[in-house]
Amino acid sequence: MIRLYNTLTRSIEPFKPQHDTTVRMYTCGPTVYNYAHIGNLRTYVFEDILRRTLKYHGYAVTHVMNITDVGHLTDDADFGEDKMEKGSRREGKTAWEIAAVYTEAFQNDLKNLNILEPTIWAKATDHIDDQIQLVTTLRDKGYTYETDDGIYFDTTKISDYGKLAQLDRQTLKAGMRVEMGQKKNPHDFALWKFSKAGESRQMEWDAFGKKGFPGWHIECSAMSMRYLGEQFDIHCGGVDHISVHHTNEIAQSEAATGKKPWVFWWLHGEFLLLDEGKMAKSGSHAITLQTITEKHIPPLAYRYFLLQSHYRKQIGFRWQALEAAHQGLLRLRRHVVAIPETTVDDLHIMHEFQEAMDTDLNTAEALSVLWRALKENKITQKTVTRCDKILGLDLNTHNEETVPPEIAELLAEREKARAEKRWGESDVLRKTIENSGYTVEDTPAGQTIRKNY
Ligand code: AMP
Ligand code: ZN
Repeated sequence: MIRLYNTLTRSIEPFKPQHDTTVRMYTCGPTVYNYAHIGNLRTYVFEDILRRTLKYHGYAVTHVMNITDVGHLTDDADFGEDKMEKGSRREGKTAWEIAAVYTEAFQNDLKNLNILEPTIWAKATDHIDDQIQLVTTLRDKGYTYETDDGIYFDTTKISDYGKLAQLDRQTLKAGMRVEMGQKKNPHDFALWKFSKAGESRQMEWDAFGKKGFPGWHIECSAMSMRYLGEQFDIHCGGVDHISVHHTNEIAQSEAATGKKPWVFWWLHGEFLLLDEGKMAKSGSHAITLQTITEKHIPPLAYRYFLLQSHYRKQIGFRWQALEAAHQGLLRLRRHVVAIPETTVDDLHIMHEFQEAMDTDLNTAEALSVLWRALKENKITQKTVTRCDKILGLDLNTHNEETVPPEIAELLAEREKARAEKRWGESDVLRKTIENSGYTVEDTPAGQTIRKNY
């Protein structure tokens, strides 16, 4: 039985999907106006661990992830500029080109981090009709009002607005800072925005008698319900989404369908913090996966770095700690490669590993179980492979990458020189290999080689 922390109830509960063995899961995807930073990627790694754990338990997971390619405004609320249009001006490309470039970059990041691809990718601009339909339903049911700049959801029309964020228990302080425009209440939010008179937007559609575009929250409700039904099992995102984005998604979805709860399980990943504080995607210190690989640290070392902490704990990012994680991962793989053939599984190990994962995805504990088992020679390669189905760290991979034949030949020569204790020659060969852009390390399990990025 998997036990997960549900933000809705603020407690760890045994997980049970609505329909037998299928889990329907929606995860908020990226706004594709720039590269994802490593903070964003932390959230996707956590969601991947959740999905792999469910899969491990035999559930079939239908996983939908959206791509926000329109409607996310710079201040995260209902004002400011559209992030896509801003990206377009920054790079001198169309908003559509910007979306295509950064969607592909994002999908590559996921691949490099061994994050399983969602069952369905849902692009906001491919689902404009679904969103218009949902706004129309809400309007027809009397939940909306119109201002000069859009159609807004009236949050006073529902009795339990803010239940996810427990807004009723906090003062409405957040509302004090909100730019009101013609909004009636601080928490009201735009379902649909009208293009400003005289403004020429690249992404706009005819609806409600004018040109306009969707508000940021409506896409997630419209697309998740299209693919997963009016009620589904799991919805995830980063903790920053609790108080506004997910709160508004719940309000509009439950108002539209009349069914509660819209989603049974809400899971949120904590933030990765830079020393300076919250990491902004547009900020000057945004670190991307590419920044990491440029420093010769492979993406999976970042995954390992993340798995050393629990997903509900903040992590302060430090390069030193990432480098230590990199060395840790290389060591772990060396241990796995060196497992003697004669090893027999200690049956408790897999049980402990699974128990750790089932206890609200405690990857840190699961890794320490694995380390202990390896050091005490209690785990076979086959069982490591099973653990790695959840961890996704390529643990049965030799650290050597596939190298070009000429480098492989040099490595073989060096192997021979070392075996015959011709140390001078071995050093010369190491230099030659390194000059070709590789780093060679000698370990108890033999030579390892990695490409310098
Ligand atoms: P965005 O592309 O800005 O919509 O964010 C994509 C995902 O990253 C969302 O689920 C956010 O909650 C999450 N996120 C943003 N910043 C961070 C951070 N510093 N650490 C972890 N997750 C983050
Ligand atoms: Zn969302």
